[in-house]
Amino acid sequence: MPATKPNLLNTPARAAPRGRHFFFGPGPTNIPDSVLSALHHTTMDFNSAEFAVIHNRVHAGIMRLLRTEQNLLLYSGNGHAAWEAALVNCFSPGETVLVLDCGHFASNWADMAFDLGLNVERLKADWRTGVPVAAVEARLAADKQGEIKGVMVVHNETATGVVHPLAEMRRALDKSDHKALLLADAISSFGSIDLPMDAWGIDVVVAGSQKGLMMVTGMSLTGISAKALARSTTVTTPRGYWNWQQMMGVKPQRFPGTSPVHLFFGLHESVRLIEAEGFDAVLARHHRFGAATRAAVLAWGGGVTSAVSVGPSGFSGKITALQTMCTNPSRLSNTVTTILLPDGHDANALRTIADQRYNLALGSGLGPLNGRAFRIGHLGDLNEPMLLGAIATTEMALADAGVPHTAGGVQAAIASLREQA
Ligand SMILES: *Cc1c(COP(=O)(O)O)cnc(C)c1O
Repeated sequence: MPATKPNLLNTPARAAPRGRHFFFGPGPTNIPDSVLSALHHTTMDFNSAEFAVIHNRVHAGIMRLLRTEQNLLLYSGNGHAAWEAALVNCFSPGETVLVLDCGHFASNWADMAFDLGLNVERLKADWRTGVPVAAVEARLAADKQGEIKGVMVVHNETATGVVHPLAEMRRALDKSDHKALLLADAISSFGSIDLPMDAWGIDVVVAGSQKGLMMVTGMSLTGISAKALARSTTVTTPRGYWNWQQMMGVKPQRFPGTSPVHLFFGLHESVRLIEAEGFDAVLARHHRFGAATRAAVLAWGGGVTSAVSVGPSGFSGKITALQTMCTNPSRLSNTVTTILLPDGHDANALRTIADQRYNLALGSGLGPLNGRAFRIGHLGDLNEPMLLGAIATTEMALADAGVPHTAGGVQAAIASLREQA
């Protein structure tokens, strides 16, 4: 380990960036060459029969991945756009929504609901574990008048690497026969962590193109249950571009204005790639990569987990060793691992070294985790050598940055990958 802190300002800005840039943020993700090639296409009339074939295929493919036979709408717009579309179509101003508020993304979605005039109730818990199912169950059981019209859950909280169990949330609703809609943000889980929409009774699933689908940013999608679609005809919120009703009626859907044909060319290839590998194999690959990344972190931190809780206002105590943010073993994310640094060490300095010296982009800590944590995204177009390259380079950057750790993360990741091969 270097005796003194490295002088970051003297580090040349990626002086010789030979080879591929290693992008390991949890989204956007790597875009496969064949998806990039598919985007390279001359203009096509969006009203042509030729485009209708592609449009229909993409629509059907995404319905298969969502495991739904209900409704699907695609939009040109990122995940935030789909967030807004879900809220304005499902709720009228003043109606109450219950948000499981346990991370940067959940909290931002809640803020958006507030800005749109909804009465937002935040169910908070330790960001390291997510909201307990029992807390949701108790809150719904107490709502005898059915004032809560929607339960908003971020499936995979990309800021923390904690996964909320959606099937159990459905059961929590059913237990008290609660009629609220169940809305899931699956932006960093769709296509990488299983989420069978119909089987789990999720009313609205929001996802985007640039994470598990390995596509460029700019497209988002929403799976919509018959119940949610019916509700959208009764709500009074003014809607224009995002009005589900104006998109429905034409098969597979109408786009207000020009259809983003090139984004469809890319998605067509993304869906093909996922199905060629096999969707179950894709899910299993993410499971293996998540486990291998966590094995590396466990080795670096010597297996220490501090019982320190984290919330919007910060940390309840001292973090003494490098460790995963998620402390709930049944909620570990297979698409992103958030790693806490021991107190007194700067995660952004570590990220700068990884990026400037070694051409490896790691995700930043979000909200109260900024500077305290970094994230390794392990979703999308990845294989073992890429993941091991990122883990090895992170280990090298930890040493350069003088962050206390035990070497051997790479060996642990290799062992984990081989064990599960
Ligand atoms: C990335 C992400 C978003 C935001 O998606 P954008 O396409 O950037 O708007 C929202 N929620 C989660 C869980 C995410 O991972």
